[in-house]
Amino acid sequence: MLPLPLREAYDYRVPDGMELVPGDFVEVPLGPRRVIGVVWGPGAGTLESGRLKPVVRRFDVPPMTEVGRRFVEWVAAYTMTPPGFVLRMAVSVPSALEPPKPMLAYLRKQGAEPPPGFKMTDPRKRILALLQDGPPRTPAELADEAGCGVTVVRGLAEAGLLEPVMLQPTRLGRPDWRRPGPSLSADQRAAADDLRARVASGSYSTVLLDGVTGSGKTEVYYEAISAALEQGKQALVLLPEIALSAQWLDRFARRFGAPPAEWHSELTGAQRRDTWRAVAKGEVPVVVGARSALFLPYPDLGVIIVDEEHDSAYKQEEGAIYHARDMAVARAHLGGLPIALVSATPSLETKVNADSHRYARIELPARHGGAVLPDVELIDLRRDRPPARHWLAPSLRKALTDTLAVGEQAMLFLNRRGYAPLTLCRACGHRMQCPNCTAWLVEHRLARKLQCHHCGLQQPLPHACPECGEEGTMAACGPGVERIAEEVAELFPDARAAIMASDTLHGPRAIQEMVESIGRHELDIIIGTQVMAKGHHFPMLTLVGVVDADLGLNGGDLRAAERTYQLLHQVAGRAGRGERPGRVMLQTFMPEHPVMQALAAGDRDGFYQLEAEMRLEAGMPPFGRLAALIVSGEDPTLVERVAMALGRAAPRSDSVHILGPAPAPLALLRGRHRRRLLLKAPRSTQVQPLIAEWLDRVEIPPAIRVQIDVDPYSFL
Ligand code: ADP
Ligand code: ZN
Repeated sequence: MLPLPLREAYDYRVPDGMELVPGDFVEVPLGPRRVIGVVWGPGAGTLESGRLKPVVRRFDVPPMTEVGRRFVEWVAAYTMTPPGFVLRMAVSVPSALEPPKPMLAYLRKQGAEPPPGFKMTDPRKRILALLQDGPPRTPAELADEAGCGVTVVRGLAEAGLLEPVMLQPTRLGRPDWRRPGPSLSADQRAAADDLRARVASGSYSTVLLDGVTGSGKTEVYYEAISAALEQGKQALVLLPEIALSAQWLDRFARRFGAPPAEWHSELTGAQRRDTWRAVAKGEVPVVVGARSALFLPYPDLGVIIVDEEHDSAYKQEEGAIYHARDMAVARAHLGGLPIALVSATPSLETKVNADSHRYARIELPARHGGAVLPDVELIDLRRDRPPARHWLAPSLRKALTDTLAVGEQAMLFLNRRGYAPLTLCRACGHRMQCPNCTAWLVEHRLARKLQCHHCGLQQPLPHACPECGEEGTMAACGPGVERIAEEVAELFPDARAAIMASDTLHGPRAIQEMVESIGRHELDIIIGTQVMAKGHHFPMLTLVGVVDADLGLNGGDLRAAERTYQLLHQVAGRAGRGERPGRVMLQTFMPEHPVMQALAAGDRDGFYQLEAEMRLEAGMPPFGRLAALIVSGEDPTLVERVAMALGRAAPRSDSVHILGPAPAPLALLRGRHRRRLLLKAPRSTQVQPLIAEWLDRVEIPPAIRVQIDVDPYSFL
């Protein structure tokens, strides 16, 4: 099997003197190229052996396990992706197959002065500043961090300002399961014992670890990790990328005496290579990672934890479209091991599976140490109105004043980056729109730009309206976090305030610094997007104000209410995690909406029940199945024609319904026109064969792409 978008494995000849077993990583010829591949099994025998090309060599790494290979096939079949394409996620670092070479890296040479005539350009200064503290880095890493070419690094080395050192592969620590954890409460003990027993049994089960924020779920699943390590097996913890914080890693290291191996998009090439290889060789007991960590070559996984299992970041929307939580359950099933899905607000899918006893359930009903859950109040924006072109209601302003007066911290939450989501001309009404996407351009005042949040387009804010030419008429509509920060500065000029959003904080390190600064109480008011909704623990934070609680409810998405509930619940969970009780205020135009009512009453199960009834009535997931086809291309007429042909060829029966083709809400995305078809079927229907037959009936021209999304989460 080659890690390329191919449906089938290819046959090769094993040359004399080479021994291969299934799973071996090999190098093989493919046309004029040499590519890596994985021995999948005996050949199909369709080509006579004299015409087969020989395997070039076998890599000296342990073979991919049988479970690993079955997993690739399973994901491919479920998501209707070519298996080779899925395999590519499992061999994502080809260089890891080669034995590591010691690598040249540089330190700053102490006391070295630039030779006469050597000009200290800005890039040169940046590199020396980077090396001021911190580990030795390779020329490529330095160039990347400093945003310059490697020749700049070489120039500094030739001038004698850098000290060359040879880097050995990253050494990963060994977490020690013998270290004692904290003494657990009775509930926590029972939960931990249950998980330990599942790990010890070495057989498949899925359990929902359902507990309010701050109840000690993390402490409890550490016990499951400890049990897996005790058995000499590995543990995998999946986190939504955004929650993978230095705070989490430090906490793990305190518990186990060494950090886990990390796997996420911020790793350097060298870290990826060393980690992949170490996992394959069985040298890594614990991996914590984002969804792609599921595809690492574990020799003998003993437990999987999916923390924040409800988080939609687990759905990969590009390339192979898959849901990492669901695939993790499949991985556990194939490997015969337990998996724990952890959340304070489980997905409806998981909740229904637990209610019907397909999954086991462990509950942690109370916050650790008696901390109480915050009070949630609704602010009715129809009555309690903010002043014109301002966004904070009088009652929220008063609460902020009171909180600051007693020396506590407050957070304002608005899940919208930038200054304003829409810019329009007051003279002619023209709206600034992205030329490549069906989306408005968002003003980022700090960066002095208009930006498209879908394709990344940036342009300066026009002084004159591009439509009518009037000058000084462009006006910002609606708030983003930057605009809320402006209002806060106006209201509380002496308060120390900061914005926390993915575009104002670059990378986990910056987030970590901000989090620490909040923890040290160097800030009074934090204005944040969902970057700050997750996991953090701030004892002095007692007020959370949600600027626009209705934001996620618009758009008619199947899971809009569920997601809004989960997000706001999580945001609310940031308040009152220490000794001081917390208070949460939600600004809404729909205080009677079931989501708002459930949040205010703390009636989680009531909300889930209502939501479940509505989905059951409509035959929607988790009670029915959905699959989407997204037809896209540059030529709108051709896209329309193919979409219509698919519509006519669609499978229809009493139970299977097709919705569309309809223009996608993002009818234009990155310059491609898009049409959607949605297949809706009973839960008992296997949708993959239906879709395969359907696509076989329609000729798809090469200029058109048809993406299949089984169990869609995004309807854009
Ligand atoms: P959750 O994951 O459910 O939000 P955590 O595991 O993060 O909860 O626990 C919340 C806080 O309480 C953390 O600071 C944690 O260290 C602390 N904590 C939880 N259980 C215990 C315990 N048994 N002993 C000491 N501290 C605990
Ligand atoms: Zn765009």
